[in-house]
Amino acid sequence: MKRNITTILLVSSRPEDLAYLTSTLAGFVPGKFCLYSELDIDSAVRFMGHTPVDVIIFDISLSHYQAAFGRIKDVRSDLPIIVLSGKDDLALAAAAMHMGAQDYLVRGKDDSNTVQRSIHYAMEREHFEEALRRAYDELELKIEERTRSLKELNTMLRLEIAEHMRTAQELRMEHEFSRAILDTIDALIIVLDAHGNIKKVNRVFESRTGYHGQEVIGRSIGEMSAGLDSEEFGQDFFHRILHTDDASQYENVLLAKDGARYTLKWSSTSLFDTRGAVEYVILTGMDITEQRQMEILDRRRLQNLAHASRLSTMGEMATEIAHELNQPLAAIASYSDSCLRLLEDTAVDIGDVRDALREIERQALRSGQIIKHIRSFTKKDSLSIELVNLSKLVRGIVDLIRVEVRSHDVRLRLDLQGHLPMVRVNVILIEQVLLNLTRNAIDAMEGVMAEQRLLEISTYAADGFVHVMVDDSGPGVPPGADVFDAFFTTKPEGIGMGLAISQSIVQSYGGRIRVEENSAGGARFSFALPEAEDN
Ligand code: ADP
Repeated sequence: MKRNITTILLVSSRPEDLAYLTSTLAGFVPGKFCLYSELDIDSAVRFMGHTPVDVIIFDISLSHYQAAFGRIKDVRSDLPIIVLSGKDDLALAAAAMHMGAQDYLVRGKDDSNTVQRSIHYAMEREHFEEALRRAYDELELKIEERTRSLKELNTMLRLEIAEHMRTAQELRMEHEFSRAILDTIDALIIVLDAHGNIKKVNRVFESRTGYHGQEVIGRSIGEMSAGLDSEEFGQDFFHRILHTDDASQYENVLLAKDGARYTLKWSSTSLFDTRGAVEYVILTGMDITEQRQMEILDRRRLQNLAHASRLSTMGEMATEIAHELNQPLAAIASYSDSCLRLLEDTAVDIGDVRDALREIERQALRSGQIIKHIRSFTKKDSLSIELVNLSKLVRGIVDLIRVEVRSHDVRLRLDLQGHLPMVRVNVILIEQVLLNLTRNAIDAMEGVMAEQRLLEISTYAADGFVHVMVDDSGPGVPPGADVFDAFFTTKPEGIGMGLAISQSIVQSYGGRIRVEENSAGGARFSFALPEAEDN
């Protein structure tokens, strides 16, 4: 709490100093000042220990006044000190001011007003200095705090800069890494913009096509393709990518600068902008030129092999076919004979002759059909691909199968679905598969009693495939045997190529073939071919 009375302590050994101060302060408002006096510094320090002092008036002529000055400041550093000097020791007073005294009074010279003002100012100055010191301390503190937070900020900034630099470095590395992958991967990479125009290509593209990136930028993939419908292909291709993000169905022939042609299989990835619209499309093209050539070679090899196998099958079936043809020929001979006889009769019934001729025609047509079938079967076909209904195909080959079925006392049962999706195949090759499977089935039933020999052929569609099943009532395939292996045979005259060729044929159309045991304990060979897309 602020005191209203100002306590003054005079430290002086001179009695006249107390008298001087008492007299100069005598005119003051009573109760405002309270004057104490001590003769030496020890007593003054003691006094200060129990009484709060507001100002000290200090006799400069005291011995060791500098030490005394220090002791007062030790007790209370904020205590205002006024030194009391004589006229002769003004220099000492000035020195005391340097040491921190607030003012000085000249003994006997300064009047009551001056003394009072001096005391007042000394206290004010001390307060002011104290406030200044405090402000300074506060400022120092603030500066310290600010310096500390600046240092922290600085450290954070440094860390952030280091982080940024690391991220930038990582990005650069990532970029270089991606660039290296793009340039070293053995695939052609094309970046298309949202309109399907080339924006960027990788080095493999440049080296494979002979075009420098700059030469193709802005062109469409259709322009770079071979073929009359290349432009259309380009549009269709890009449309498909945009709407399905799947180019994997697409192959095209890319025309290099020197006219070389590359067959490429494409896959694509779309990059979207913030609104979700396609911004870029990255196309990755695998060069499958060699693979395609190999496939063509393989197809030709399979074609030759299949042809050889068909010839051999026909050779094996020759006797039965001859026998089969013999029947209509014998029938024709017999009908011709009866015709001749009918014509010899004058009362000839023309209706009878017509019937006989019709029968001759029917038998001749039937023989012709069998021969036509055999001819097409043994011909080295160009392997034309057609849309085929497998139920119809089975029905069509039944004539040939029937020859063997009949000669081996086998019952034939057909369960063919009428409305089957079409498949895209070569008829002769699939007939060959069917003939292999049915002939094997008939062979397998050799040891079974005639009345139990049943050959069943059924067709149905499921899961995007059209299935054909050939069931027999034989003993089933030998356990553990891989019957599809080339040259696997259990027959004394067999060569073990029928199933291997059948498997290759079915697989060449993207189909599959397998064998399992049927409910009768016999073998069920089934194959499935993918439904044609344009059904
Ligand atoms: P091949 O008829 O010349 O032996 P395949 O490749 O057609 O050649 O048949 C290989 C073997 O698979 C046959 O020898 C036979 O052991 C077995 N096999 C094929 N079909 C059947 C079947 N329906 N039942 C039992 N075994 C069969």
